[in-house]
Amino acid sequence: MPHTPEQTSEASLGLKRGDLVLDTATGRVGEVMDNRWNRYQLRPLGGGREWHANPLNLVSPRMNGPRCPECRRIKSAYYAASHEGDREAAARWTTEMGLHQRAAHL
Ligand SMILES: [Zn+2]
Repeated sequence: MPHTPEQTSEASLGLKRGDLVLDTATGRVGEVMDNRWNRYQLRPLGGGREWHANPLNLVSPRMNGPRCPECRRIKSAYYAASHEGDREAAARWTTEMGLHQRAAHL
């Protein structure tokens, strides 16, 4: 995938504050706090030190359209967990989405 400035723009990921994302560079799930300097500021679930993540390394069930039944399954499980306020489960589905996309779509 070519690394163009467009791909790091705010609009490209469609993430907003509070969304959970997997940073594939670190394998950690974080909560989106901000988006500055072409980086996303992520906070560990439950608090802790924020870190800066490259948008190119981020995967979230909220990103991209569903591309296969497994994507759809993970996505709906993520939304169900989020809707119930179960952040731990939502974080697990976020990780699951990262693993699945890496295995099936990259
Ligand atoms: Zn898929």
